[in-house]
Amino acid sequence: MSSENPPVTGDSGPELAALVAGGTVDVLDFPKPGIVFKDLMPFFGDGPAFRRVVDGVVAHYGPDSFDVVAGVEARGFVLAAAIAYATGLGVVPVRKAGKLPRPAFSASYALEYGEATLEVHEGAFTPGQRVLVVDDVLATGGTAAATIDLVEQAGGVVAGFTVLMELGFLDGRERLGGHKVHALLTV
Ligand code: AMP
Repeated sequence: MSSENPPVTGDSGPELAALVAGGTVDVLDFPKPGIVFKDLMPFFGDGPAFRRVVDGVVAHYGPDSFDVVAGVEARGFVLAAAIAYATGLGVVPVRKAGKLPRPAFSASYALEYGEATLEVHEGAFTPGQRVLVVDDVLATGGTAAATIDLVEQAGGVVAGFTVLMELGFLDGRERLGGHKVHALLTV
């Protein structure tokens, strides 16, 4: 294998990792200088690859492992809805501040490139409901930590956290305590 194509790795094996890698475009200096933005739109647009990875996420957790799927705005919505459909479960959107129409819990955090606040409706989960949290990219872990906090504020229990891609050099996984992290691709 040439040095231009290093082996790809992830928690569901090299085949699924390669599908995510093959659908990702690195965009330099977006949304600000110094950031390499991982654009996963080509992956989402590739039907067979998307289906294979969604099926891989479902297989990773096994039957009856979670009761509902929570997706982080906005790209997490895409993956969350597909996993929810594949498992016959519902989906809870975790939204950016000011978007939810009813009383909500909120959590603020620092991003790799800025600050943000996320919200989830009060009553979004039944007490003790097992929640699979999903997003597209795990960078510093701030978004994931805030989302886990929101799920717990709202009475849910985090069953796992799945991302398509983990930026391993930022050590985001270490901010998530003992929660199970499942990254299809680690770079
Ligand atoms: P963080 O809170 O630092 O883990 O950032 C993760 C969140 O920000 C996810 O919702 C991603 O969509 C987004 N994000 C952060 N860094 C990147 C990146 N380099 N490329 C694409 N999305 C990113």
